[in-house]
Amino acid sequence: MKEEDSILKVKGVGEKIQKKYEKLGIYTVGDLLEHYPRNYDVYQPICSIRELVEGEVCAIEGVLDGTPKLHKVRNLQILNCNVTDGTATVKVTWFNMQFLMRSLHTGIRYIFRGKVSVKNGRLVMEQPEILSKEQFYNLLDKLQPIYPLTAGLTNKSVSKSIAAALKEIDLNGDYLPLDIRKKYDLIERKKALKAIHFPDNKGKMIDARRRIVFDEFFLFALALQQLKAKNETRQNKYVLEECAECQQLLESLPYKLTGAQMRAWEEVKKDVSGNRVMNRLIQGDVGSGKTIIAVLALLLNAKNGHQGAIMVPTEVLAKQHMESFCELLEPYGVKVELLIGSMTAKEKRVVYKKLKDHEVDIVIGTHALIQEKVEYDDLAMVITDEQHRFGVKQRENFAGKGEDVHILVMSATPIPRTLAIILYGDLDLSIIDELPGERLPIKNCVVNTGYRPSAYRFIEKQIKEGRQAYVICPMVEESESIEAENVMDYTEQLRANLPLKTNIEYLHGKMKAKEKNSIMERFAAGEIQVLVSTTVVEVGINVPNATVMMIENCERFGLAQLHQLRGRVGRGKYQSYCIFMTGHESKETKERMDIMGKTNDGFVIAEKDLKLRGPGDLFGIRQSGLLEFKMADVFQDASILKDAYEAAEEISKAEVLDMYKKYEGLQKKIKMYTSDLSL
Ligand code: ADP
Ligand code: MG
Repeated sequence: MKEEDSILKVKGVGEKIQKKYEKLGIYTVGDLLEHYPRNYDVYQPICSIRELVEGEVCAIEGVLDGTPKLHKVRNLQILNCNVTDGTATVKVTWFNMQFLMRSLHTGIRYIFRGKVSVKNGRLVMEQPEILSKEQFYNLLDKLQPIYPLTAGLTNKSVSKSIAAALKEIDLNGDYLPLDIRKKYDLIERKKALKAIHFPDNKGKMIDARRRIVFDEFFLFALALQQLKAKNETRQNKYVLEECAECQQLLESLPYKLTGAQMRAWEEVKKDVSGNRVMNRLIQGDVGSGKTIIAVLALLLNAKNGHQGAIMVPTEVLAKQHMESFCELLEPYGVKVELLIGSMTAKEKRVVYKKLKDHEVDIVIGTHALIQEKVEYDDLAMVITDEQHRFGVKQRENFAGKGEDVHILVMSATPIPRTLAIILYGDLDLSIIDELPGERLPIKNCVVNTGYRPSAYRFIEKQIKEGRQAYVICPMVEESESIEAENVMDYTEQLRANLPLKTNIEYLHGKMKAKEKNSIMERFAAGEIQVLVSTTVVEVGINVPNATVMMIENCERFGLAQLHQLRGRVGRGKYQSYCIFMTGHESKETKERMDIMGKTNDGFVIAEKDLKLRGPGDLFGIRQSGLLEFKMADVFQDASILKDAYEAAEEISKAEVLDMYKKYEGLQKKIKMYTSDLSL
């Protein structure tokens, strides 16, 4: 069996299961093997029932106390029994597993392993596994993979499929040259793939992970190299001449560009008037004023007779850009349109036609812009805003809507510059490292929940002065519906704590795009005074009148994310405040929050974030939001990233060709990072 084979070849995978795997983006055996665990479960030794702790997964050994009882609640079959081990008794419950009735006998010792919770004041173990002594001791201390799942696929079945695939697969030789493997201390690929799924111990898992992360970065670096080489040969088909309108726009602004903005704008102008196509990244901290550069660039492009497009990650942001673009460009006779997923098919068709007939100069949109049906008459420039929310592939797909178009990407992820140079290796870099002058620096305070009532009074006062506030609820679990509930509960609580006339609304990931848009619009218009939200407001939103950002359970967020959130305030002329509310205080939290309290500089925060996060927390939240990698995280794995980049720089052409020979699927894999199949 080969990596390129369909998963139908894997033992136990039929057409029905194949469909489920497709939902996870798994088509081939290789895809399946790269469906890495999102975490591991460790089987801890048996504990006595008296020691059971709420919220933990525990194993107990005992006998049934009485016979199991089955009852029905609506369409749920509930099986209850009591288990005792001499120290205490605990209730054990299964749902829709009535068949267990027949296999559970009194007088026999079983091992039960499951999550302990409290129901009606009593400890219960719900839905435990039943294990024999032998089974349990085989699993003890081993790491059991926990996989991302979809409806109809259980962890057990995925685990089985992967074990079956690993047994049959022919992973032939390792494509990575031996000297690289030696130099960077990497284990063999075959070993790594086995150990990442079924590691004997934590050390083995870490070695496996290191190899896999290295490969991801290494192949990514090769892909960027190839992309860069290709871009360097691209002639500029759209030489853009300076235009009077850009100057007029600059003069009409209520502010002067900062020095850093001006530099970025000059660099863009130089690119588009030169011999080669523009491929530029503008990296600037939140609030540094990147949007105006995009407006200027697209105006220049339009006045030279071409079409341009700007893609953003959310509809809310698209609409907001639409408004500011229209306002700024209104005097210059430039036609701007919006294209977003929530528009009706009919509305979209109208825009498609206008784009094709060149009745639109600038289109602003979301992913909808890279749909097949979008065709242009004369596309010459594409801009992606908040590039860190997109992959290189999407950026390339976007550019593929035209021929050798100018590419400008903008990003605010404050990732350290050393990493940016690697991750955006195919782009020229402009940095906006200066915030507009008249802004008052945000005042920060880090407090515990005891301060919450005072914080509410503070928000109340700000609202009285005409300002607005954001309150961020933490993600509770991975489940969006629980998160939604949490936001709603919190909003109720807040409504009870602020004057009746205060307009408080909420925003969460499960709401329809239309609802989200309408809430955001009303917040931007000042109709809503307090917006309770999950991190969905994180990207790009600009409401200069908002002056308070209060972040509950701030210890659950990464520093980079906190910085993005804080960046939602301090965008206007008023003094702004960020309240970091810590749910529980540890030394680590204190250290991290100290950094947030002391600096407002995203680059400094990024460097510190990198230092604070050791390789210890391997499966923390993937905070960087860079979507390119299955396993790697650019923050946590920064040192591996540097190694892999170095290795990719040093490898010879001949060695690369040799790698391709050794591993058929490799070229395709490299290309996965870009969409450019002609590489
Ligand atoms: P970001 O870089 O985060 O995308 P924006 O482009 O949204 O930042 O700009 C944030 C705010 O700063 C906007 O309200 C914008 O009008 C304003 N702004 C941009 N440049 C300047 C400047 N040079 N002086 C004053 N305000 C500016
Ligand atoms: Mg922005």
